Amino acid sequence: MTRHLARTLLILTAVAVLTSACAPGANVEAQAPAAAPAAKPNPLPGVTKSLDELRAEMFHVGAGKRLKPAEWPGGNRVAVALSFDVDNATMALSQGNLDYEVLSRGEYGAVDGLPRILRLLDKQKVPASFFIPAVSSLLHPQMIPDILSRKVHEIGIHGWIHERLPVLNDEKEEQRLLDQSIETLTKAMGKRPVGYRAPSWKFSKYTLAQVKAAGFLYDSSLMASDDAYEINLDGKPTGLVELPIERIVDDAPYFGAADGSMPSPEHVLEVFRSEFDVAWDERGLYVLTMHPHYMGHRSRVAILDRLITHMKSKGGVWFATHEDIAKHLKGMLGAATN
Ligand SMILES: [Zn+2]
Repeated sequence: MTRHLARTLLILTAVAVLTSACAPGANVEAQAPAAAPAAKPNPLPGVTKSLDELRAEMFHVGAGKRLKPAEWPGGNRVAVALSFDVDNATMALSQGNLDYEVLSRGEYGAVDGLPRILRLLDKQKVPASFFIPAVSSLLHPQMIPDILSRKVHEIGIHGWIHERLPVLNDEKEEQRLLDQSIETLTKAMGKRPVGYRAPSWKFSKYTLAQVKAAGFLYDSSLMASDDAYEINLDGKPTGLVELPIERIVDDAPYFGAADGSMPSPEHVLEVFRSEFDVAWDERGLYVLTMHPHYMGHRSRVAILDRLITHMKSKGGVWFATHEDIAKHLKGMLGAATN
């Protein structure tokens, strides 16, 4: 750039600044009284709270008595609880997402996924627990009779339409949805479900009190241990058995969040198998979470088949529903306080 050109540009820039400063509105803006600054959300509210305040928040929902038996029924050394969250398209519907690419991928769970999974469980002769949003069961009413016809599986609550409870954040509305979910599944099953799993595993601040008041035997939404424990509400035992879940042993992060990009289901088999092998060594509990619209695909049911075969080959495995495991552990609970 020549010196002359640089000087010309400097002059033009100065003129532009002056012109804009004199433009209509510029002075009005400059003279307007300053608006009150909007309250900025505090990104770190915890840094100024007292330890008592933090303790109350931390242990509103907390881990109580550890429920790890010396031995599982039949002299087995490990309990395996296979669980399937039959969400299908409900999460998208709850959010008003009418993208039929997304909805049809969810519908796959009812059309092909669940039937293929049920055929595998028949072949392997192992029971499982199915947590079903009520709307999912109403949109595909054949699912519950298909599951119950096997006479070994359990069905539990998984919200009305897979509503995210902290987003709902409304005590009365949450209670209404819980009540109508229980009513819907009770009618479809011919008996009241005893197990609860929160949609997306997310409790609101109201959830635990409502689940306890509804008289559930167990919850399976929390992650404070590998082994079962009693859930405490504000530091007090609830009498509810927690059968903990974990994202490591869940198909959704690998197949759902990865949106089909997981190159090989073998990687997932390796993680699931390694987690099982240590549960077997520790004589613990192994809860696996899957979804028919993810796990029900051909190559993925194939790895589930291999995983179950691996478990059987090690021996000493009690395959049971969540309900049967919770009933077995219920006797270890302390006296619940109301
Ligand atoms: Zn779910």
